[in-house]
Amino acid sequence: MTRLAFLWDQSKCVSCGACIASCNAANYSSSTLPNPLWNWIRTNIKRIELNSERPMIYLLQCQHCERPPCVTVCPTGASYKDTSTGLVKINYDLCIGCRYCVVACPYQARWFDGVIWAPRKCMGEECQDRISRGMRPVCVEVCPANARDFGDLDDPNSSISKRLAASRYIKLLENMGTEPKYFVVVGP
Ligand code: SF4
Ligand code: SF4
Ligand code: SF4
Repeated sequence: MTRLAFLWDQSKCVSCGACIASCNAANYSSSTLPNPLWNWIRTNIKRIELNSERPMIYLLQCQHCERPPCVTVCPTGASYKDTSTGLVKINYDLCIGCRYCVVACPYQARWFDGVIWAPRKCMGEECQDRISRGMRPVCVEVCPANARDFGDLDDPNSSISKRLAASRYIKLLENMGTEPKYFVVVGP
């Protein structure tokens, strides 16, 4: 089986925003239209600033959950898990814009696009096209700090599998039972 997943190494990230800008450029043609739900730009990566004693950022995006509640609640089958890749995708031909999936996602990883009257999330169509041609998502490609990776968890020789084997990492909101496939590396 193939189970594609993302890795974000918080200990290496320099918070440059290149991944966010590249997602906006590749998947939204560098659009400057707003993303009102996130109060953010049109991109599938959300930046969360934690102003605690030790300020830090989290970069959050769709976790491509093994047990995705967005798929469970979708009344039309528009949200689905692609069994050939393990990625959670949206079939826009079936979407009726009800937003159940937006509400159901515990990560708030979806935003609603009033232009197409449908939800958006990682992975965008340009990145899906890149994957189908054996390339990496743009956010992984542009990261200057090697803080991102993407690949098959079921291949022990994939870059992501090797990095996870050599790292300490967490998965977000594991208690929700979603089995996320977005790994946050916190150190070696
Ligand atoms: S992170 Fe949210 S949108 Fe992505 S698969 Fe999980 S529940 Fe669905
Ligand atoms: S907005 Fe579209 S993808 Fe989301 S639950 Fe409704 S029909 Fe499914
Ligand atoms: S491009 Fe890499 S270093 Fe820059 S914000 Fe994104 S993950 Fe962090």
